[in-house]
Amino acid sequence: MSMDRRQFLKYSGIASILGFGASVASAANLITGKQLFPPQVDMNKEALLAKRWAMVVDMSKFKTDEDFQKTVTACHSIHNVPDFRTPGGSVDRKFEIKWIWKAPYERTFPGQENQYMSEHLKDMPFLVLCNHCTNPPCVRVCPTKATYKLKDGITMQDEHRCIGCRFCMAACPYGARSFNWIDPRRAANLDVSKGGKVNPEYPTRTRGVVEKCTFCTERLAVGKIPACVEAAPKGGLLFGDLEDPNSEVRKIVANQYTIRRKPDLGTSPAVYYVIKGGDHA
Ligand code: SF4
Repeated sequence: MSMDRRQFLKYSGIASILGFGASVASAANLITGKQLFPPQVDMNKEALLAKRWAMVVDMSKFKTDEDFQKTVTACHSIHNVPDFRTPGGSVDRKFEIKWIWKAPYERTFPGQENQYMSEHLKDMPFLVLCNHCTNPPCVRVCPTKATYKLKDGITMQDEHRCIGCRFCMAACPYGARSFNWIDPRRAANLDVSKGGKVNPEYPTRTRGVVEKCTFCTERLAVGKIPACVEAAPKGGLLFGDLEDPNSEVRKIVANQYTIRRKPDLGTSPAVYYVIKGGDHA
């Protein structure tokens, strides 16, 4: 989607107003089974806390396809993200569910290209995910408060409250949200009768709800860093408290040149990218 800040604010405002007219036809999604969203976890004394969680992505550390794959797979398998790819690897984009994925420079940073950029940088894949924006338009338009901000900056998604209106998807300028058009439990990777595997510690979703990355709140609550950060090559993904001057993410954001996605829209993403053109394989 390409639009300037003025158009963006206009359309997200309209969606917000329309949100009150959202159909209640999907209200049954409010009662979606025994599992609760977000996963109910006890905050223990090991819980990782922050004033403002943020991530730094340094793509120069991702050298091979395997580096990407390991990172994405760690997230998607822990969170029971359905995979509707055919055995040949193709997927109907409409049905695709993704929490973290890769995209080329021009789609990651539209408007931030210049004619002298190296082909190498233009062709580089970038890992993208929910930016946990400081001013998230998805939260503003949600008519049921299914998506909301936590004090530590994380944008949460409560699937029990989601009525499937998809206003959040229209409002998010980053394509960070996916809608379950098909029962996710039927996906080959989750359907146990077809050899699939479900992580019993994380709820599966139902048809008719939106889902996205949550910066692994369920792991932070028990003292673990996000799964993607753990699986990424060393230094590829860094996670920490942006408000802590001694944190690694703060030091990088303060001292290195970083860019964020679509900064002109005023959403203020919490995911920062270190851009180095020369040393990626
Ligand atoms: Fe919301 Fe999209 Fe920002 Fe995530 S990236 S907080 S889904 S607007």
